[in-house]
Amino acid sequence: NGAAANGDGGGSFDIGLPGAEEGKVVTRFPPEPSGYLHIGHAKAALLNQYFADMYKGRLLVRFDDTNPSKEKDEFVENIMKDIADLGLRYEKLTYTSDYFPQLLELGEKLIRAGVMYADDTPVEAMRDQRMKGVESACRGRSVEENLARWEEMKAGSEVGLTNAMRFKMDMKSTNGTMRDPVAFRCNLTHHWRTGHKYKLYPTYDCACPFVDAVEGVTHALRTSEYRDREEQYYWILAAYQKLWPGLPNVHIWDYSRLNFVNTLLSKRKLTWFVETGRVESWNDPRMPTVQGILRRGMRIEALKEFILSQGASKNVTVQEWDKIWTINKKLIDPTCPRHTAVEEEGRVLLTLEGAPEEPEVLVVPRHKKHPPAGKKALTRSRQLWLDQVDAAAVSEGEEVTLMDWGNAIIKTITRDPATGAVTAVSGSLHLAGDFKKTKLKLTWLAAAEQCELVALLLVDFDHLINKKKVEEDDNFMDLVNPTTRFEKAALGDPNMRTLQKGEVLQLERKGYYIVDEPYGAKGAGQPVVLFSIPDGHTK
Ligand code: ATP
Ligand code: MG
Ligand code: MG
Repeated sequence: NGAAANGDGGGSFDIGLPGAEEGKVVTRFPPEPSGYLHIGHAKAALLNQYFADMYKGRLLVRFDDTNPSKEKDEFVENIMKDIADLGLRYEKLTYTSDYFPQLLELGEKLIRAGVMYADDTPVEAMRDQRMKGVESACRGRSVEENLARWEEMKAGSEVGLTNAMRFKMDMKSTNGTMRDPVAFRCNLTHHWRTGHKYKLYPTYDCACPFVDAVEGVTHALRTSEYRDREEQYYWILAAYQKLWPGLPNVHIWDYSRLNFVNTLLSKRKLTWFVETGRVESWNDPRMPTVQGILRRGMRIEALKEFILSQGASKNVTVQEWDKIWTINKKLIDPTCPRHTAVEEEGRVLLTLEGAPEEPEVLVVPRHKKHPPAGKKALTRSRQLWLDQVDAAAVSEGEEVTLMDWGNAIIKTITRDPATGAVTAVSGSLHLAGDFKKTKLKLTWLAAAEQCELVALLLVDFDHLINKKKVEEDDNFMDLVNPTTRFEKAALGDPNMRTLQKGEVLQLERKGYYIVDEPYGAKGAGQPVVLFSIPDGHTK
């Protein structure tokens, strides 16, 4: 039960939902199909699931598709994939666009009731009036005039396009969201689902209270930075209830938005990274999207554990990535297979006296404490490859341990006189030695014809944003980290030919990796591509 855990985000779920009755709670996760889901959306989805389960209620998933300019089939398909990966169990899937006919009917009722008016004040002037709390000259238009403009808007005519429909709330309110917000506006863009059928669309503010109520949502969870909008939501819902008999109440319940250091969680900003080619795609391992994080080697269980450990606290905090990767490491370490690699550049041959004349092949477990991980071949030979860093760390006469073999005594070290880099090392096997007494444990791979090493590309990443805590008034484009992908060629043990895409492994003394491109994926001669998985220790 992850909910009992109490992260430093504070809070748990004990508080519960107001007015919740077992068996009657209905929550909803309402993504807009304007991008892939990010980790903040994952929190929203999992919290809604959590409360639906807690009260033996129901969860709905609704595509909030009220803005044709931003929405696409690609996003719908990928959000569906993300929802499946998150393991959401929802009762039904709906679309706000299913309710467009009813919303238009409601719009007409609002005009007739005198609570919505057409405004053709130019955008700039409207913004200025809203800032100053000044009523628009259009506010006093008659019902007939408003209905005529409504028809023009429905037709998407020239006159229609210059108007917006606004709720008649309170331009003097200290709450800016109450200053006659826009309810409908024209948009001639193709809608991903309804095509060109509609020329005007309800705003999110206009559609959401209606659809929540009509679908029987009892508790609408929202992030706390929208608290100002609560008053607006209830005003709108009350106005609808007068015109649409039987429309039930909805409770708004807010929780803290999830933020991470060095990270942007906004689809608009993430879109910019995709569109400017700074990342490969929405599922790039540097993206804080569900797909990006999974591709980087996060287990879905770790993501869930982290999110539920946050509780339903309302305090907005900025989370450290180390925290979630530490949870992940605890999950992968006990089972993921071990393999060995040596960096290609600067690798050094160690010639070992006392080793068998002919290379010998042993069969050993891929994880010593986890037999289901299977077995692998291990070749021992007279000549071994070492990493340059290891070769540079040993000294003549020193006793070292060769991992999974035994001790050896270093005899000679040859260096390049110009660079000081080690070019060759010799030593002799000393199997009687005690590995507990040596300081250095060396990773090695047989340099022998019988042991055909695999070309690897080890890829590491940095954050896309180089500022730890992004502020409201920062221009994110100024904070873009120029270099965020680092590649190193390496050679891996022959067993690595069988690794599958998405398989997680540990490279001995190097860290955890996930297979992005398995052997042969990109044709002969192409390396196996491994992405390094953060282990929660900032480098
Ligand atoms: P974005 O700014 O990324 O577009 P959004 O809120 O506009 O986010 P939606 O698709 O409308 O995107 O969001 C779906 C749900 O996820 C909403 O209930 C929203 O409040 C919630 N949500 C979005 N971002 C976060 C976050 N960082 N932490 C928690 N919940 C979030
Ligand atoms: Mg939104
Ligand atoms: Mg947003």
